[in-house]
Amino acid sequence: MLENLRYEDIETIFLVVFALIFVLLEKLWPKNQNLDIKATLKWDIVCFFALVLGVNISRLVISKFYSSIHLDFGLMETTAQWTFVTRFLIAFFLSDFVLYWLHRGMHHNPFLWRTHQFHHTTETLYWFSGFRTSFMHAFLYAFPQVLVGFYLFRFTTLELGIAFGMGVIANLFSHSNLAIPKSWRLHYLFVTPDFHHPHHSQLGTQNKNFGNVFTVWDRLFGSYVDPNKIRSDFKYGLKDQPNKWRSMTGL
Ligand SMILES: [Zn+2]
Ligand SMILES: [Zn+2]
Repeated sequence: MLENLRYEDIETIFLVVFALIFVLLEKLWPKNQNLDIKATLKWDIVCFFALVLGVNISRLVISKFYSSIHLDFGLMETTAQWTFVTRFLIAFFLSDFVLYWLHRGMHHNPFLWRTHQFHHTTETLYWFSGFRTSFMHAFLYAFPQVLVGFYLFRFTTLELGIAFGMGVIANLFSHSNLAIPKSWRLHYLFVTPDFHHPHHSQLGTQNKNFGNVFTVWDRLFGSYVDPNKIRSDFKYGLKDQPNKWRSMTGL
């Protein structure tokens, strides 16, 4: 049965299943017990369609472009010989590295910031907040994910679905209103809510902690801020809110 699924179907299954899991986890172990998501949830559902549109157009452009020029980096035949675990780990790490720099670029380049600022307009962080991205942001982010996984590492449909599904889990997790005990030391390796939330704060730490899945890039390239060393009662969002509809396009 799995062979008949498209990678988008597998990704959607991951999204539905893990969204439900995170809703439950936030009820059991909330970081902020008084969080009210009713008002923002309606808006985030609208935003989700901008994301789906951006991702799908991006994937379509990449597949048309690729099939028309027949790129071959030489590396493709080699990576196809590796075991799934080796290919998966290296591809995931490489794609996360590219996304770290893309995200960092979005904060430093005014043109790219226009594509990303919409993600920072949210003033409430919970499991669904990571999907608040502009059309252009979704369009740009899909490039490294598809190019690395599909074209450089020759992922099968199932492998690509699992890889994108893992990305969905990382997104849900890093934005969630979930209290993770510090003693677990997850943030040494992974982007946790405590690690990512300061990136959405109005404390002046928005140019810190750019990582998507792994925290190593921020530590290596000097953009790490220790969540334990900043105040925890910060406000989320942008001091000057842009026009929501325009920033949703990312143009
Ligand atoms: Zn950002
Ligand atoms: Zn975020």
